[in-house]
Amino acid sequence: MEIFAKIQKPYRWYLLNNKNVRSMLSAPPYRQKNKIFAICPYCFNPIQVILKGHTSNNFGTYYAKHLIHSPFDKVEINLPRLEHCILKKQERLLAKGAVPANIDLNDFDIAKLRKVFYSMLHVTMSGAFLRRLLVTTKKALYYTYADEYNYPFMMLLEMDYLLLNHRHLAYYPPLIDAINDKSKYFKVTSSKHEVVTKDENDEISRLYFVFDGQQIDPRSKLNF
Ligand SMILES: [Zn+2]
Repeated sequence: MEIFAKIQKPYRWYLLNNKNVRSMLSAPPYRQKNKIFAICPYCFNPIQVILKGHTSNNFGTYYAKHLIHSPFDKVEINLPRLEHCILKKQERLLAKGAVPANIDLNDFDIAKLRKVFYSMLHVTMSGAFLRRLLVTTKKALYYTYADEYNYPFMMLLEMDYLLLNHRHLAYYPPLIDAINDKSKYFKVTSSKHEVVTKDENDEISRLYFVFDGQQIDPRSKLNF
């Protein structure tokens, strides 16, 4: 992984380079003895920053790895999020060599994308559905700052809603309870966490996730 975040604003990420490491991670709690720690901007779990290839005439490069024990007093490891983190070693959303400016829909690893949305929205989507979603949110390809790390968020910006009827939810009690407690027409089955209508003969009710009032950074306008 080539990016990191800090504890207070884990969703804001920075490049792992010498300048950022020195200016942002050189004091506790990030620096502890000779080790440097930070936060993964994707799963918000702690990571260790490591310098590799450092020699007398080559500074080397930084990379980060996930940890299974937290070095921070106030940060606990969230295992389900860690399991689905796209920034772990061997986890790439895009085919190797895909350049952000020329991302092709075929460059995406659909299985990884499934994991990302499962982790972000707590909803299971089929590979076929995700392929269709990639096509319908294709405009996200043209956002100036679209890259491997934030592409799923760009897709969300291009989505108005997601139909939840008959979708399977991750075991995420806040969402399941919200539907079971508050919805007049829907419930979540206890076995497979499928979103179904309370009345089996009800064929017209629809339950949506609505992505409303979304905005993009004005500097990140479409670059057609
Ligand atoms: Zn992570």
